[in-house]
Amino acid sequence: MTQKSSKLPEPKPGIPKGTALLNDPLFNKGSAFTMAERSALGLSGLLPSQVCTIENQVERVMENYHKKSTDLERYIHLVSLQDRNETLFYRVIADNLEAMMPIVYTPTVGSACQQFGHIFRRSRGMYISYEDRGNIAQVIKNWPSRDVRVIVMTDGERILGLGDQGASGMGIPIGKLSLYTACCGIAPSQTLPVMLDVGTENETYLKDPLYMGLRQKRVRGPEYEAFVAEFIEAAREAWPNVMIQFEDFGNKTAFRLLEIWRDKICTFNDDIQGTAAVTLAGIFSALRLTQKTLLDQRILLLGAGEAGVGIGDLIVTAMVDRGAKLEEARSKIWFVDSQGLVVKSRTGLAEHKLRFAHDFRQIPNFVDAIEAIQPTAIIGVSTLAKAFSREVIEKMSKINERPIIFALSNPTSKAECSAEEAYTWSKGKAIYASGSPFPPFNYEGKTFVPGQGNNCYIFPGVGLGVVATKSKRVTDRMFAESARSLAEQTSQADLDMGRIYPALNRIQEVSAIIAAAVAEVAFRDGLAGVPKPANTLDLVKASMWKPEYESYLVK
Ligand code: NAD
Repeated sequence: MTQKSSKLPEPKPGIPKGTALLNDPLFNKGSAFTMAERSALGLSGLLPSQVCTIENQVERVMENYHKKSTDLERYIHLVSLQDRNETLFYRVIADNLEAMMPIVYTPTVGSACQQFGHIFRRSRGMYISYEDRGNIAQVIKNWPSRDVRVIVMTDGERILGLGDQGASGMGIPIGKLSLYTACCGIAPSQTLPVMLDVGTENETYLKDPLYMGLRQKRVRGPEYEAFVAEFIEAAREAWPNVMIQFEDFGNKTAFRLLEIWRDKICTFNDDIQGTAAVTLAGIFSALRLTQKTLLDQRILLLGAGEAGVGIGDLIVTAMVDRGAKLEEARSKIWFVDSQGLVVKSRTGLAEHKLRFAHDFRQIPNFVDAIEAIQPTAIIGVSTLAKAFSREVIEKMSKINERPIIFALSNPTSKAECSAEEAYTWSKGKAIYASGSPFPPFNYEGKTFVPGQGNNCYIFPGVGLGVVATKSKRVTDRMFAESARSLAEQTSQADLDMGRIYPALNRIQEVSAIIAAAVAEVAFRDGLAGVPKPANTLDLVKASMWKPEYESYLVK
């Protein structure tokens, strides 16, 4: 007996033991710990006798998943699994990515945020409260990992299309980081969701006894910016290689924070830059169908917020890369906002719209703007449901043989037009994409599969490219490259069925190739913190974490 136990394999260093191991979602394997691991790691007697494979465990999770009757219950089921066993959670997601993306992210994550204080089970990530100001560097030390590479942070002011959710907006950084891991293998241990809790204007939450954030109106102005700056400086001190993604900040704050930080640290804003890249990729694919060039385009956007202006800026970058002068490129991009066409003579235009305010007469109405501008493409990022009316689509079809119609507002109920409307009113001519998914549609015997301009085509690949190269910055050129790479990976078969993006079930391979393209930019522009390897794709693939159990025993 003594002889037998003396042959027991040793556990690897750094692995927790006993109940601490079972309660650590990064290390826990639940019923899949082998008998040898159970002996070596103090787990004997703490688990049922049967050793399960990960496939058994997936089957058990899915059996329970299918018994849930609402998407919110499915969300709670999956998030609870994530809090128990991250490897199994990501294996389940990887096996069911397309079906589960709308559960772990939009639209279900929106309902989860609205119910956050009521469905809360276990804390995840860091809540940096305004009360912590002056002491944030100390607070950050409570986070157990010394190797955080990706932070997604929000202040909850503009969560999806749901407005101010305060601290309940934490569901968004959590969900987004899940997609970084699921789509592109950023290791869960290297991710950190952050809620910067500065209060909320949401009266319902302020009165709700179960609301979990600071019960006060938002801190604004210089105090707010100093608080954000203190967090960013502390985070960079603690994790020098970290990339910080701004997510779902209010419109003005988002532009301002990006301006302050983009050239100082490794950061980007997905609502502005990620949306822009996925839309530019859609345009590149559409141009393969119209056989026209980017410089031939005149693009009219409905909505001049974070998404719209981000799209405008990136298209301009891509046009300049193709030889256009800056002003010439800007002259091809037009906006209509809630007050009509964005033109120079309008007073009180927000700072971010000024560069697209053209010397032109005022036109209050979108249809009249189409008539005047004669665009080749219209892009809806207005949250104005049904704004692309029959008249709009018919007018676009008269001007263009193949009109480009992107109705990107979310959720589905806010879309500027449905896939069915775009195809029917254009008599099958429209090149269509949406923000929320629409089912395939048959028009006069031809089946169209509408593309979804989902940001998850872009940000995981950008993140992996940045993390793998330890890039010092995230640049517009990286987003332009990611757009080019995504469009390039859209096959002729995709285009033939009207889909201007690759199928979502290819997202992992697509993201790796985007990451390699982003890494190339980091090397070319002297931003990388690692030496250039012979093969960039190999470098990014080697950085990809996989949802597989590793042995915790020394061989
Ligand atoms: P935002 O609040 O920053 O901007 C909204 C803009 O719409 C503002 O400029 C506003 O003036 C304009 N608007 C409002 N009512 C209007 C009206 N009646 N007519 C014309 N314009 C009007 O929001 P955002 O971040 O730019 O997002 C806008 C929409 O785009 C949201 O529905 C969002 O879900 C969607 N979006 C989609 C994707 C995607 O598909 N990948 C990505 C990001 C955002």
